[in-house]
Amino acid sequence: MQFEPFESKVWLSSPTMHGDELEYMKKAYDTNWMSTVGENIDEVEKLVCEYIGCKYSLGLSSGTSALHLAAKLAGIKRGDRIFCTDMTFAATVNPMVYEGAVPVFIDSERDTWNMDPAALEKAFELYPDVKVVVLVHLYGTPAKVDEIRAICDKHNAILIEDAAESMGATYKGVQTGLFGKYNAISFNGNKIITGSSGGMLLTDDEEAALLARKWSTQSREPASWYQHEYIGYNYRLSNVVAGVVRGQMNYLDEHIAAKKAIYMRYKEGLSDLPVTMNPYCEDIMEPNFWLSCLLIDEDHMCFQKRGDLTAEYKTESGKSCPTEIFETLAKYNAEGRPIWKPMHMQPIYKNNAFVTTKGEGEEFYFDNVGTDIFDRGLCLPSDIKMTPEQQDKVIQIIRSCFL
Ligand SMILES: *Cc1c(COP(=O)(O)O)cnc(C)c1O
Repeated sequence: MQFEPFESKVWLSSPTMHGDELEYMKKAYDTNWMSTVGENIDEVEKLVCEYIGCKYSLGLSSGTSALHLAAKLAGIKRGDRIFCTDMTFAATVNPMVYEGAVPVFIDSERDTWNMDPAALEKAFELYPDVKVVVLVHLYGTPAKVDEIRAICDKHNAILIEDAAESMGATYKGVQTGLFGKYNAISFNGNKIITGSSGGMLLTDDEEAALLARKWSTQSREPASWYQHEYIGYNYRLSNVVAGVVRGQMNYLDEHIAAKKAIYMRYKEGLSDLPVTMNPYCEDIMEPNFWLSCLLIDEDHMCFQKRGDLTAEYKTESGKSCPTEIFETLAKYNAEGRPIWKPMHMQPIYKNNAFVTTKGEGEEFYFDNVGTDIFDRGLCLPSDIKMTPEQQDKVIQIIRSCFL
């Protein structure tokens, strides 16, 4: 089957601006608050607290810096083992390692693709002294928060929530970003709302919020000269960037609704193919549907082999694989992305421990869930500026891969 390539690229997830952003940026410019202090920062910190329901929020230069300050607040010391979601973006775990943490990666479960509570329980049996758990809500789908929190409480461990991808998603009606002691969101360019960059630390702990605020501005003490009692960082959010985020806050719900419509259109449009969508537990959670992903049925996978940097596959009738779909979409000027390669498969973390329940009671090719989802899954174009007509064509292109 042949298609015309898309005239303008259909993106995975790119910034969507509305005009309000420019007004607030201009306000920063016109009043000369072109720094890391100003009304946009104050307002956006207030708006995020109101929306999510946290007591304190701290505007920062990135989600990564928010996670770094969370690692410090959690008291991570050099050599401390921590537990962390395995299938995630490296920015979840790298900031823990800045503080000297030794991450133990916890396998994913099938229902949400997030941290498997059974594997976490098993990890505490192996390493009972662990005091920090870092939990991700992958692609905007909440993890099994109740189970994870109960295990953390039982073992007196601090929960850090990486809600970088899940802003606006709820679990039992409660926003993600409220479940951990210290939590991070991100305003990176591809997230559900963006500042071009930026992030926030969320917490209900006043003392922690004040301390993190101090660390984020080079740990200046309240003297007229530069006086320092701790190591500091230059992590504060810019008032210009905060203006973009401030404008975007008006459209967060609209973005989520558009992302959900995309997910549902894929679900419907792909329903007769041997694929499933990234799953969630409909009765207890409402994702923000940041990225729509598919998972190819095992018996409809063609041959695919991935090395460290390249992949190969063999076309087979009636079958396909993520590499074929990814490359075919690219050929028509549409952007997919392989599932985030699990941390335990990354060269940088290859010597770290990894805990899985090995999919007990399940039979599949790989001996853990993360590797299997990475092998058979693909993130689909999920940009909210994609029109229904463009999405229909994306679906046709995917369909053609199985012919
Ligand atoms: C984007 C992202 C981050 C990092 O946020 P930045 O603002 O890009 O630093 C952390 N964790 C996850 C899961 C992310 O997707």
